[in-house]
Amino acid sequence: MLHKWEGIVLKAKAYGESNKIVTLMTREAGKVACMARGAKKPTSRLAGVTQPFMHGSFLVQRTSGMGTLQQGEHFNSMRTLQTDIIATAYGSYIVELVDRLVEEGREEPYAFEVLLQALTAIDEGYDPEAIALFVDWKMLPYTGVQPILNCCAACSAVEGEFAFSFTQGGFLCHKCYHLDPYIIRLTPTQLKLIRMFYNVPIDQVGKLQLKPQTKSFIKKIVTTIYEEQTGIRLKSRAFIEQLERTPLLYREKKEE
Ligand SMILES: [Zn+2]
Repeated sequence: MLHKWEGIVLKAKAYGESNKIVTLMTREAGKVACMARGAKKPTSRLAGVTQPFMHGSFLVQRTSGMGTLQQGEHFNSMRTLQTDIIATAYGSYIVELVDRLVEEGREEPYAFEVLLQALTAIDEGYDPEAIALFVDWKMLPYTGVQPILNCCAACSAVEGEFAFSFTQGGFLCHKCYHLDPYIIRLTPTQLKLIRMFYNVPIDQVGKLQLKPQTKSFIKKIVTTIYEEQTGIRLKSRAFIEQLERTPLLYREKKEE
């Protein structure tokens, strides 16, 4: 059967001398791996469209097992993501996260939409670090962790001061602080921001101008959830941390 899917290339792995195995996140069929014959050759018509981050339309022949990519046509080649090292680093992190969390074999329109919006936003010049943070929060339900952020996780109170508690799985109000000796206290702004990352659509989050320390604070919370509660540690996270430790490169880019 021949399928026409809208998809985004999550990864492309060399296979044999001239082929690639391409993993697509598609709108219609979820995550799909397919063989792209000859795509490793620069002259192949599949060479361009099988680059990571590529958003396009893909014709895949599949009966059972792995399908074969017949044709691809790009809608958006995500040029910034392909050429800007900071954008590439965060883009790689996002596609790796989606690839890790989403399983093959079923439609995942929510994950597709989060991925498409995030990559498009980075490509259009939104702060890649804020966008990656947004994806971290948005993809949390796929790990089985659903933090309680609309009220106190212990007593359901909505008034008062709040802190973040990893053991209670979300916000804790000041009356319940005693339940967790390791709470992270939050200012009202931090509280609002975390809720926003979790609940608000990306175009609103993308426009926010966030201070580096605000981002790193929110990132610390979500990274801890991923690493300690889900055991997920991504290779591309290490690359981002390496970039962050190369301050010259990182700063020049950020101050443009
Ligand atoms: Zn409480």
